[in-house]
Amino acid sequence: MNLGEPRNLIDGKLVNSSSGAVFENINPATEELIGVCADATRDDLDQAIAGARRAFDTTDWSLDAAFRKKCLLQFYEALKEATDELREVLIAEAGAPRLLTHGVQLVTYIEAMPYWANLAVDFDYETQMTDIEFMGQPQRRLMRREAVGVVGAITPWNFPVYLNLCKLAPALAAGNSVVLKPAPDTPWSATVLGRLIAEKTDIPAGVVNVVASSDHQLGAILSEDPRVDLVTFTGSTATGRRVMQSASSTLKKVFLELGGKSASIVLDDIEVEKIAPMLATVCTHAGQGCALQTRLLLARSQYEKGIEQMKVAFENFPYGDPNDPSKLQGPQVSKLQQERVLAYIEKGKAEGARLITGGGVPSHLPKGYYVEPTIFADVDPDSTIAQEEIFGPVLCIIPYDDDDDAIRIANNSLYGLSGAVSGRDEARALSVARRIRTGTIGVNGGQWFSVDTPFGGYKQSGLGRENGRLGFEEYLETKVMALPAAR
Ligand code: NAD
Repeated sequence: MNLGEPRNLIDGKLVNSSSGAVFENINPATEELIGVCADATRDDLDQAIAGARRAFDTTDWSLDAAFRKKCLLQFYEALKEATDELREVLIAEAGAPRLLTHGVQLVTYIEAMPYWANLAVDFDYETQMTDIEFMGQPQRRLMRREAVGVVGAITPWNFPVYLNLCKLAPALAAGNSVVLKPAPDTPWSATVLGRLIAEKTDIPAGVVNVVASSDHQLGAILSEDPRVDLVTFTGSTATGRRVMQSASSTLKKVFLELGGKSASIVLDDIEVEKIAPMLATVCTHAGQGCALQTRLLLARSQYEKGIEQMKVAFENFPYGDPNDPSKLQGPQVSKLQQERVLAYIEKGKAEGARLITGGGVPSHLPKGYYVEPTIFADVDPDSTIAQEEIFGPVLCIIPYDDDDDAIRIANNSLYGLSGAVSGRDEARALSVARRIRTGTIGVNGGQWFSVDTPFGGYKQSGLGRENGRLGFEEYLETKVMALPAAR
């Protein structure tokens, strides 16, 4: 099997960089080079934006919903055929555990593609409002929803195929053209999609552009460019702020999916032992998930026992070679990320948190950017490791006095992405969940992830909602057309 795609897609053509430069794609589990990717220049980005603008302004793409549905279904067929290749790409460049590619990393979202294809035609783009009177004259009003225009999409490396698709698919279904700038750590998760679009669909030239580059600044330039109407960004809160700044000069719409520091509250009427393996899933994909529950809040009445049970769960968490289908945790995506996580662990120790297990690089895995599943207890809720997103397999355990105290600690965060509550009394657990300021929350192990679930954050975890009808509407403008009504 040919792995990956070294070319970008710019204005309908699969191309090398205009400078001829390439950048390396490294496997984080082996530290070996798996290949290269065209290193797009600022000129390449300029051409991509020009192509997207032209395609939006001069083709019927935004007006022909039936054609968009046909093209999205072609893309769906192409994705199904390319599933095995995309799976190997994800394992090789993102260090994604093989098991996860059968779910949220890949297959779940390929299966979601018909949802967007159907929504392209099922959505009511024009609705009649109730008539009004203006200066004694009856008025008819039509509310029209139409594509925003050129969408700049900027994505991170942690769930790269999913995150690229969950921007591309609704933006295209709604009739926009797109310039996708993926993260440099996982270029092929985007360039393969570009190749499928170019070779296996009738999507017109310029409607989709994929611009992989080692230059992060391309994201800033894309956010600033006056030809771009909307920026949809997933990544860290720090970069999200910069995207908003860049977009402000042209006052373009921004749609942000940012970081998280979600809390899992275990109420005092449920045994931690019963749910410890579920709570250890914070190590899934090496903790590189925005919605993972990285703070665990335990009632003082079961605090020490709970820590012991979590220690057992962490020490049994399956980690190692992402190719091995029994593993749920692979390496951090890069040396840089491994160093960041290890620096946070040192910070936790320096801040006086109690290290329960892990805390370093596993000695049995000499190659690859691994970090041991790590637990800190007695974490001060205001300390750095309780407040900042570590993006590694690191759990912070914090004790609480009563339900009100747990809610206060959970909400003591600049983030508000996700969370969890577990308790034997479901009504009590639900009432605690209602008071947590986050965009999603699971109760007693409930899972919310689905293409029709609006996902996003309160506070500094983001602006807007991805997926579902609300996610589709992020890519639409609103126009009201008024005309005199018959008396
Ligand atoms: P990052 O913010 O460093 O980079 C994300 C993307 O932004 C990359 O493509 C990068 O090249 C680009 N970029 C860098 N500087 C830029 C700038 N000044 N202007 C515009 N674009 C710029 O994030 P990351 O390290 O790639 O990913 C991890 C982060 O993503 C975590 O914070 C995680 O919580 C977040 N994330 C959020 C969600 C969500 O849905 N809320 C999902 C996945 C990941």
